[in-house]
Amino acid sequence: MSYNHGSIDAKWQAAWAKAQIFRAQDDSPKEKYYVLVEFPYPSGAGLHVGHPRSYTALDIVARQQRMLGKNVLFPMGWDAFGLPAENYAIKTGIHPSVITKENIDNFRRQLKAIGFSFDWSREVNTTDPAYYKWTQWMFLRFFKAGLAYKSTMAINWCPKDKIGLANEEVVGGKCERCGTAVEKRDKEQWMIAITKYADRLIDDLDTVDYLPKIKKQQVDWIGRSEGAEIDFAVVDSQEKITVFTTRPDTIFGVTYLVIAPEHPLVESLTTSEQRDTVHSYIASVATKTDMERGDDTKAKTGAFTGSYVINPANHERVPVWIADYVLGHYGTGAVMAVPQHDERDLAFAQTFNLPIVDRPLISFADALAKTGGKKTVQYKLRDWVFSRQRYWGEPIPLIHCDHCGWVPVPDDQLPVLLPDVANYQPTDNGESPLASIDSFVNTKCPTCGGDAKRETDTMPNWAGSSWYFLRYIDPNNNNEFASAEKLKHWLPIDLYNGGMEHTTLHLLYSRFWNKFLFDQGLVPTSEPYARRHSHGLIMSEDGTKMSKSVGNVINPDDIVNEFGADTLRVYEVFMGPFEEPVPWSTNGVVGVRRFLDRVTKLPDFIAPAESPDVTKALHKTIKKVSEDITNFRFNTAVAAMMTFVNTVFEQGSITKPSLLTFLAILTPFAPHVGNEVNEALGGTSLMEAGNWPTFDPALIVDSEVTIAIQVNGKLRSSLTVALDLPESSLVTQAQSDPNVAKFLISPIKKTIVVPNKIVNFVI
Ligand SMILES: [Zn+2]
Ligand SMILES: [Zn+2]
Repeated sequence: MSYNHGSIDAKWQAAWAKAQIFRAQDDSPKEKYYVLVEFPYPSGAGLHVGHPRSYTALDIVARQQRMLGKNVLFPMGWDAFGLPAENYAIKTGIHPSVITKENIDNFRRQLKAIGFSFDWSREVNTTDPAYYKWTQWMFLRFFKAGLAYKSTMAINWCPKDKIGLANEEVVGGKCERCGTAVEKRDKEQWMIAITKYADRLIDDLDTVDYLPKIKKQQVDWIGRSEGAEIDFAVVDSQEKITVFTTRPDTIFGVTYLVIAPEHPLVESLTTSEQRDTVHSYIASVATKTDMERGDDTKAKTGAFTGSYVINPANHERVPVWIADYVLGHYGTGAVMAVPQHDERDLAFAQTFNLPIVDRPLISFADALAKTGGKKTVQYKLRDWVFSRQRYWGEPIPLIHCDHCGWVPVPDDQLPVLLPDVANYQPTDNGESPLASIDSFVNTKCPTCGGDAKRETDTMPNWAGSSWYFLRYIDPNNNNEFASAEKLKHWLPIDLYNGGMEHTTLHLLYSRFWNKFLFDQGLVPTSEPYARRHSHGLIMSEDGTKMSKSVGNVINPDDIVNEFGADTLRVYEVFMGPFEEPVPWSTNGVVGVRRFLDRVTKLPDFIAPAESPDVTKALHKTIKKVSEDITNFRFNTAVAAMMTFVNTVFEQGSITKPSLLTFLAILTPFAPHVGNEVNEALGGTSLMEAGNWPTFDPALIVDSEVTIAIQVNGKLRSSLTVALDLPESSLVTQAQSDPNVAKFLISPIKKTIVVPNKIVNFVI
């Protein structure tokens, strides 16, 4: 047969769609398996070759699980709110929903062309009012539970995007989206109290199967540290400074105290002589981000307040400094400095000539007893900034009434729809574009019926993705976000794959969101994902990041058109270990296409009988591919299948049943070729309807072994013999080997046999 990928790809994609073979069944008696990939943001650039790496891997898992007899849910959807569509709207005046629809249509076309086995009947779109109705409904559950609150706070502000950013969206002091240096600005924001779940988000990691590096990254991000709060009385004042320390045992070594420039006592502690110094220092810190302030590679800066405190453990007087490395919102905004035991304190002490003393440690409890301190726990995790002053997001469904305060929009009035606007540009005072639409803003209070105003902030793009995996379970339900019965059937998700870069954002937010819904009795499991895996990035051929501006982005459409969908699929998982970043290689693509060409030639080798080597190789390959899929070693699974095909070419024959078995393990990787070859062999049903093959353990054991023959411990020859050959025949054969016989000039004193390995003659 000839491998015309264009027609073959289209033919089998149509056959799958017609048979609806990838539909998950809600009422199947089969064991369920829910396998999830992170849904994409449908950008204008279309799919890039990074997307199919994760999708192909999990498609292989989904296809194998179906062949293992499971009822598989493998859905796809669109995380479609976000800035690029809005920025495009600002430029062109085209409504974000119009451009989003075009982008989604393009993504869907691209994904279908690669032959993924998604259940397209369950597609979700976070910007669909029928979807975001439930995002708004869930936000109101947070609000009613007291976990959503409004707070004036210094937020990260991107002056270019005119948007408040969560800490997670600030990378190296710059806006994650546009790279502009982020400023601090005071702004009223809706917050969600994720910190109330900090302990459970750490502790419950023990109950799930995530890659260890994913668990570690979450634990580090939450940043729980156990320590103590200790009061230091200010000399000649009624004030005291409360410090947080993880090392109360070092209190005898304290030589100074440091408070954050934002500390409420800064003004009262600063003496008149030090006022100018302190004020100019605070001014110099104002533009720095938390990230820059915490950078230990930078020189230490600070200023002396002129005040002293008393060390409660030894009653020594110690000076109080302000320095930017202490953050106002972490701990108590004040730390005790022990240069003897802390490198950062040491560096600061050396910079400012502060004393460094050598004092003994005391026990944790002894500390606490001597100082009157109390044990506490601190976290790096902050509450979630949930307001955006942008258009293209879910409207926050709250109404402000002068009499009643913040009032939820009644459930039966959801969704609060995004109104049409003429201008998508955020206002210069930082208000959302919605604030200028009177017909949206002015409304009646649901409680007292008086005049009231709608909240005009929208939700962050992390909102819709925090629960999308629940909607796939019951995507067309108009009465609930999903029925309790179906949630119970499908949860938890058995396997979830996504980018490492989402570990501290989406993964943490969605775990928190699910835990909250669990506490509300709305979902059946506290953790949404039983197993989490991650993939490495695909780099350009020279190992640099693929980027549109450099022009080294590879479009999957081009690979599909030139080499076929299966070449792209197999190459995506063959190119390197799945978790590692790996450079794209056009030669590698060509090599995979050559492998698939050889697969299409296998029917030429069909014979009534095959060599035992082919049979054994087949069973070894079944074992290897089965294990490798479980362990995410897709690249070595492909290598094993390539070796098998080479064996058939070398031996020159394969039986039809053996070839059909090989096609069964190949099909999850290369489903178009698998089905085409099956049809060429007279097959009339889809490969997807078949079973995953099992191997015969007897056939995977090598039947021959190579034995080292030694004389007085020196290797003299080797023999290939049947496995477990009786010792007497082995020794006879070894003795008669000419390369051995010539050394057996004196009588043999002793013969040592290590079964299946060594025969050693001692003379
Ligand atoms: Zn920006
Ligand atoms: Zn009211």
